[in-house]
Amino acid sequence: MSKTAISIVVPMFNEQETVRALYGALNDVAAEMDGYSFEYVFVDDGSKDATRRIIRELAGKDERVRYLSFSRNFGKEAALYAGLCNAGGDYVATMDADMQDPPSLLPRMMALLEAEDCDNVATRRVTRKGEPKVRSFCARLFYKLMRRMSEIDIADGARDYRLMSRAMVDSVLAVSEYNRFSKGIFAWVGYETRWLEFENVERAAGETKWGFWKLFRYSVDGIVNFSNTPIRLSSYLGLILTAVSFAAILVEVIRALVFSDPVAGWPSLVCIITFIGGIQLFCMGIMGQYISKTYMEVKRRPHYIVKETNCVDVRLNN
Ligand code: UDP
Ligand code: MG
Repeated sequence: MSKTAISIVVPMFNEQETVRALYGALNDVAAEMDGYSFEYVFVDDGSKDATRRIIRELAGKDERVRYLSFSRNFGKEAALYAGLCNAGGDYVATMDADMQDPPSLLPRMMALLEAEDCDNVATRRVTRKGEPKVRSFCARLFYKLMRRMSEIDIADGARDYRLMSRAMVDSVLAVSEYNRFSKGIFAWVGYETRWLEFENVERAAGETKWGFWKLFRYSVDGIVNFSNTPIRLSSYLGLILTAVSFAAILVEVIRALVFSDPVAGWPSLVCIITFIGGIQLFCMGIMGQYISKTYMEVKRRPHYIVKETNCVDVRLNN
């Protein structure tokens, strides 16, 4: 009987310092889990350093290594999608390259998956030790907002480190939208999920690729892709402001008729005008977010472009 195959998908962007260590750690895990066969799908997301050279070299030495290299940086979501498209295993794991998702957890994840007879084991960090305070605070706020605003439930501290059954992977791939927010999609497709918790591990080497603004954009994407609440909020806000301004007009008219009060106080007027103008722009911005997503979706551009690979069946047009 052939062994159950596990594919490990790793998105990489400028990870030259960590690739070899990761490869070593994966080999240790593969040796430990000798009842399974392994395949590594390394996705180079347009790195500017030696990442591509290193994974090409690893692929030359080890036939378990499959790699794809993008023509430019398409972002982690596109890299994950490309990896999933090209993973052939009965089970597929996704993890970061920097060992913040410890490969050594895999045997436990697999055991849990089999023992609980579920489709998906996901991981969650219970601490954010070693992370800047502001970043932890913003991340917590984001997850809270996300839970309030959308129907899907994303656990605080959820990582993109999971082990999924083939059925679940196929469902995730069936969600082929251009604007991808994987954490949302994993939750949206359903299936039974078991959570495994672990303490935060700091990056093995190199630097985080997510600056404040990149994370901010990622959060806005998450909310806009999975919730209509902002657009509803903007219409409520419009209604409330209209009601308030009607009341204000009424008060002013009565004041002018009854007390024949001369008009005074242009500064307050300016404040009100700028306030309403600001709210209008904000609401238009919210609508703009949704329209721009629709625009990108309608164009149906490929999610990524592969420049170099050793995978045979590459779905270029995904
Ligand atoms: N990554 C990627 N494309 C990007 C940014 C990041 O493929 O544009 C990969 C990166 O190489 C790593 C994973 O996504 O494997 C997570 O990135 P990072 O460790 O920088 O994020 P953090 O752990 O700080 O959230
Ligand atoms: Mg990291």
